Amino acid sequence: MTLVKAWEIANRKNSRIIMAIDSVLNNKKPETLISEVADLIVGVKIGLPFLLTYGVGKIKEIINTFQGGIYFLADFKLADIPEIVLLEINKISSLGFNGVITHLFQGGIPKIRKDIMTDIIGVVYMSHKEAYFFKENFKRLLNEAIKSDLDGVVVGAKNKEIMDIINKRMPKVDILSPGIGIQGGCYGEALKNGADFEIIGRAITWSSNPREKVFEILKGERRWI
Ligand code: C5P
Repeated sequence: MTLVKAWEIANRKNSRIIMAIDSVLNNKKPETLISEVADLIVGVKIGLPFLLTYGVGKIKEIINTFQGGIYFLADFKLADIPEIVLLEINKISSLGFNGVITHLFQGGIPKIRKDIMTDIIGVVYMSHKEAYFFKENFKRLLNEAIKSDLDGVVVGAKNKEIMDIINKRMPKVDILSPGIGIQGGCYGEALKNGADFEIIGRAITWSSNPREKVFEILKGERRWI
């Protein structure tokens, strides 16, 4: 499948931005930052740094405030035994998240797939220089991804070759790409390379003018939408 709700928002806003909100500068409230760009972004990706800083209550509050207009993605890169991953996903889902990122290498996602109601996004490749396990095992992870009937996968913006393979082997699965802005990629580069959504964090969250930054990103993206 694809990220159906994210596409509905993306088409409406003519945007492919999923904002990674790991840290917000200048003591700005996260909900203030989101409201500044809410009409221009598709989604918000929330991970452990955010959870540990602001807590579950704040996450629930934010999701309740923006639900409908924003796709909420939980990035805790789950990797436990399947029964526990299912428990984790059910808890995450009850907070209102639309999608969940999980690892695949631990095995067992195909076994629990039918019981998962949120979108499920798998990690098949990582691009940091120490990611040799991922590089050496890409084909095996790809097979696990196919068996897991995913809605999306995460692949770094510059990995065109990997995206080509995924788009060929899993044409209906969306590619979500980080690595843009602070990590070096240009705005729109991941879309050009075959991704469906761009995950962009600090370029926005650390900007003194996030809205202006998002407009700059959209300009880059819209060349490829
Ligand atoms: O701030 P920046 O734009 O670099 O944020 C990128 C986001 O994408 C971070 O939340 C990071 O954890 C995530 N990510 C990544 N590379 C991966 C997988 C996820 O940068 N391979």
